[in-house]
Order: sequence, then structure tokens, then C-alpha cells
Amino acid sequence: MVGIGTMEYRKNDIVTVQIDDIGTDGEGIGKIDGYTLFVKDAVIGDVVEAKITKVKKNYGYARVEKVITPSSFRVEPRCAFHRQCGGCQIQAMSYERQLTFKQDKIKNNLIRIGGFSEEFVDKVMEPIVGMEEPWHYRNKAQYPVGYDKNGKLVTGFYAGRTHDIIPNTDCALGAPENKLILEAVLAYMEENHVTAYRENTGEGLVRHILIRTGFASGEIMVCLVINGRKLPAEKRLIDKLLKIDFAGERSLAEKRIKSISISINTERTNVIMGKEVRTLWGNSYIEDSIQSVTFRISPLSFYQVNPIQTEKLYSLALEYAELTGKETVWDLYCGIGTISLFLAKAAKSVYGVEVIPQAIEDAGENARINGIENVEFFVGEAETILPEKYEKEGIYADVIVVDPPRKGCDIKCLETMLAMKPERIVYVSCDSATLARDLRVLVDGGYEVKRVRGVDQFGQSVHVETVCVLSKLSV
Ligand code: SAH
Repeated sequence: MVGIGTMEYRKNDIVTVQIDDIGTDGEGIGKIDGYTLFVKDAVIGDVVEAKITKVKKNYGYARVEKVITPSSFRVEPRCAFHRQCGGCQIQAMSYERQLTFKQDKIKNNLIRIGGFSEEFVDKVMEPIVGMEEPWHYRNKAQYPVGYDKNGKLVTGFYAGRTHDIIPNTDCALGAPENKLILEAVLAYMEENHVTAYRENTGEGLVRHILIRTGFASGEIMVCLVINGRKLPAEKRLIDKLLKIDFAGERSLAEKRIKSISISINTERTNVIMGKEVRTLWGNSYIEDSIQSVTFRISPLSFYQVNPIQTEKLYSLALEYAELTGKETVWDLYCGIGTISLFLAKAAKSVYGVEVIPQAIEDAGENARINGIENVEFFVGEAETILPEKYEKEGIYADVIVVDPPRKGCDIKCLETMLAMKPERIVYVSCDSATLARDLRVLVDGGYEVKRVRGVDQFGQSVHVETVCVLSKLSV
């Protein structure tokens, strides 16, 4: 219980609040008598009746009970489960408004965390690159398999922050083909008395269904993650999957499904995939391409989930790198070499660094299948490999590209980049807060931010990618 003036609020109180801002997780923010409430599922511009879920001294949390006056930005959500699921935090907000929210998020982080002036940020920031179709854009999905309250076999999504499965085979972000595949797997399980894994007891067999679709190639991979080493009647599963009738030109499943496998995960863990994968039918991978570069994707490899926007993102990175064919480029946090291979044709040579050995193996294989010879990959942490090579071998770079995970670049990595004095640094980021922090270090070290642009890879969610280029100040 807290008192603000004469007002007091408690958990479970119902209050009426006008929403006039958006929080970083997409929640609505409003004030009642100067007391700030973060309201889940409220859209900026709404007036809502909200139930208080948590009370703190200076702010509290609530969730929408009833929308009293809907915001002009409110739209009818496509998915009936969006409030429970937690995957699409802002599905009730128009896509246009989502883009403005993301543009502002990047801008505010650059100002607040990066310490850049608003005037400067407005000068260097370009308008966010949105999606033409912000639905069914994900090429990868992992569906948990389990039982509902009546003991019926189900697959779908975990309800936000829990491990209860919401049965839903028709996710609005996933490939439309997934529904038929999931139904085929469930039918195979029912007909052959194949059990689903139960997390509480550690018994049962099928844990997850992983589906990946090459949007450019049309190829599909289905991988069942199982708590055991063998799937009963596996031939019946294969037959069922290959008989699916997908609508459209490539209607025959045989022509589209290229890989059926199992991943063995007998550990009692939240990690989805097991380390061992066995192919049951077809290849151990599917292929997909981004422009003219082909990638081999196996069940365990990392691959960008939104291929259409990824192409736009990489094209921007390439444009910002201003390559003429003479440059030596270092691509740090290179994953399976996607950016490295994308830049290789325009550069003299590209060196990639990545911490996961399997990803580096894939990167080498991807270079080989594309006949790209001017790339070389190194396994290890960017903050270890780069200083080592710089200090011992005096390596050189005209351009450095970084694409780190959310936590951003290690300071040792940033310091080595500064010492190497490349002409340009291209920073691709999935978290504009750590981007802003790292840009401050680079700017204080003698670089100037030239261009910044958001690329929306994850419509309906609060996440946004940013690409940015800095150039060396002449001294
Ligand atoms: N550029 C790639 C991958 C980006 S994701 C692409 O666009 O597909 C970030 C990558 O950084 C992941 O592959 C992750 O394994 C890797 N990574 C995480 N920490 C790292 C570190 N300290 N040094 C090098 N790579 C790291």
C-alpha cells in the first residue's frame, strides 16, 4: 500500500488511467495523481480500466481489465492468444505506430545512454526500414509438445513466463506451412501412441518440434527433439510428413521437405535442442539464400529469423561499409559467416571471428559452397582473438563490422578496434541500449557517428535492429 497525497493504492485495486507513453517492453505508461503505472496490454492513447498487480513506492504495475476509450493506434490483434503468449508484446498497436515506437526507442537510447544531443541524433538518423508484411515472417519456430488439462496431446506456445502450453498451431508470425506440419506430427503421435515429454516427471518422449523454412528456396526442415534415442515407427512419421499437401505451386511435401531429423535431448533442462542430431530422411540441412549467397542451415545452426529484412539489413551494412574492392574487412561476431560472405565480393579480404566452433565450421562450408575464397574464419571471443592478432601479428583493417549479441561489445574489443584505426566501423546491433553505450566509447576514441538506421526484423514485438556507421576523424 502506498499513499500519494490523499490517495492510496493497493494490489488488486481497479483504477482508470489515461495511457500517454510506451515502456521499453511495450507496456502502456500512465499516471494517476502523479503515481506512475506500467500497464500491460495498454496502447498509448487508450483510457483503460486497469487492475493493479504490484505496488512500489514510486510506481506500480497493472494490467488492462477493460478498454474504456480505445487509442487511435489500437488495432484488432490477429492472434487470439497474444495477451497470454508474450511473444508479440505490441500486436494491438498499429504497425505504423510500432515503427515510430522503435525509431523513438533507438533515438532515446542514443540521447540518454550515448550522451548525444537530440539535434545530432536527428541529423544522423535515417527513417526506420519497416516490413511490407509484418506477419508470417519468421523462418524458424520451436513448438513445445505436451498435454492439456484433459490429457489431450497439444502443441503450441508457452504462456508468458510459464511452461503451460497454449495450444496453437497457427502462429501469426510463423510460416503458414507450420500448421500442417504440426498437425501431421500430432496425428502420427496419436496413431502410434508416442508420448509427449512431461517436464515435471522427466518422462515421455517428444519435447519440441523445430521447423525451419528457407523463404527463398522453399525448403523445409522438421526436427523432433526427443527425450530418448529412437522414435517408434519413424517411417510412419516420414510418410505422414511427405504426404502433406501444401497449397500453392510447390504443393508436394516431398519437394519441399528436404530434411527430417531427431535431436536427442535426455537432460532435464530448459535448453531446447540436444547436442546430437540424427537425420531420419533427406539431408542433414536445408539450403537458403540471401541475394546470391547460399547458406546451409542445420538444426543447430544460427540463422537470422527474418530473411526478408535481413537482406535489407545486410544491404545497408554493405552500403555503409563503402567497399571498393580494395579493403581488408574484419567481421566480428560473424556467426555462420552471413555478413562476411555478403561483403566478400566487394572487399579484398574478409576475416570473421565467432565464439561457437560449430558456427565457424558452417561458415567455412558456406564459403566453400559459394566458391568464395577471400574469407578466413577464426574461432574464439572477439575480445581475445582481435587483441592477440593485433598485438602479435599486427593485423590491419580498413573496415571493421561488428554484430554482437544483446550485451554489446566487450570493452577490450572496442579498445583494440580503436587501436587498429580502421577508416570505418559498421555496428549492427540488436539492442540499441548497448549500442548507445558502445558508440560513446568509439566516439570518445576518435570516431564520428555518420549514419544510423533502424531495421525492423521483429514486427509485433518490441525488438529492433540498428545499423550504424562511424568514420575515423582525421587528425
Ligand atoms: N553476424 C551473424 C551473427 C550475429 S549474432 C549474423 O548476422 O548471422 C551474434 C553472434 O555473436 C552469435 O553467433 C554468437 O555466438 C556470437 N558471439 C557471442 N559472444 C561472442 C564473443 N565474445 N566473441 C565472438 N562471438 C561472440
